Amino acid sequence: MIIVDTPDAMRTIAGAWRARGRSVGFVPTMGFLHRGHVALMHALRPQVDELVVSVYVNPLQFGANEDLARYPRDPEGDAEKCRHAGVDALFMPADIYPDGFSTSVSVHGLTAGLCGAFRPGHFEGVATVCARLFGLVGADVAILGEKDYQQLQVIRRMVRDLALPVRIIGGELIRDDDGVALSSRNKYLSDAERARARTIPKALTAIAAASVGERDVAALTALGRSLLDVDQVQYLEIVDADDLRPIDVIDRPARALFAGYVGRTRLIDNVAVGVQA
Ligand code: AMP
Repeated sequence: MIIVDTPDAMRTIAGAWRARGRSVGFVPTMGFLHRGHVALMHALRPQVDELVVSVYVNPLQFGANEDLARYPRDPEGDAEKCRHAGVDALFMPADIYPDGFSTSVSVHGLTAGLCGAFRPGHFEGVATVCARLFGLVGADVAILGEKDYQQLQVIRRMVRDLALPVRIIGGELIRDDDGVALSSRNKYLSDAERARARTIPKALTAIAAASVGERDVAALTALGRSLLDVDQVQYLEIVDADDLRPIDVIDRPARALFAGYVGRTRLIDNVAVGVQA
């Protein structure tokens, strides 16, 4: 595995692969890697000749009062996990934006609700960094986790709308043994907070189970809320699985999504609900 630390070097290496007809797969991350990230690498590994993982904590996607400065980092641990997962290149730049960088990518509509409503500018930062990373890595296929379900849909839409030459696939959400979705931010939770964080997957699983018989979205979200023990619910919504619009009745593939705080830690989670595509 090679470690690549500048955008120019990444572009040169990926260009040489492509010139030799090698297919390139890409897993973008912000590092502090866990089994959820590694599962994405394993899912993509057999599908491509060369596998690239990026570790870059992208300042553009953090709000002024968010956790950019204290976002957890572990470059050595990340490199070790990537090596084990059969990664060919770990792209770990200090910065990826050129001087005078002045472009941003906005995906409208899909970003209006859910996390977009609570994190102004976040998805613009995510779409912009993904567009630049896709350009640098020149990937044929990139995988993003269903953990960040809205992000996955936003990037799918950006790629479609801008006709970017990359195929996006969604990777299954990986949970810890207690049901909590794996996240780099789980590191912030105390034991007591962790116990309360478990009520998030419990509530979502209960919604998914009940949606087999109960089709009324208001009833399902009320059930979910009754099971949550968190400090703040930003949203608990059931939406169309594709365009993320709110629905009243489960009559199509849908997704129940949660965001909220346990202590000072913001957690998100989601499950598939109702008839699946
Ligand atoms: P992050 O490092 O949080 O930006 O995540 C990088 C990628 O890993 C994104 O595509 C996430 O959706 C994905 N990811 C993070 N946690 C999980 C998880 N628990 N299961 C599956 N994918 C995940």
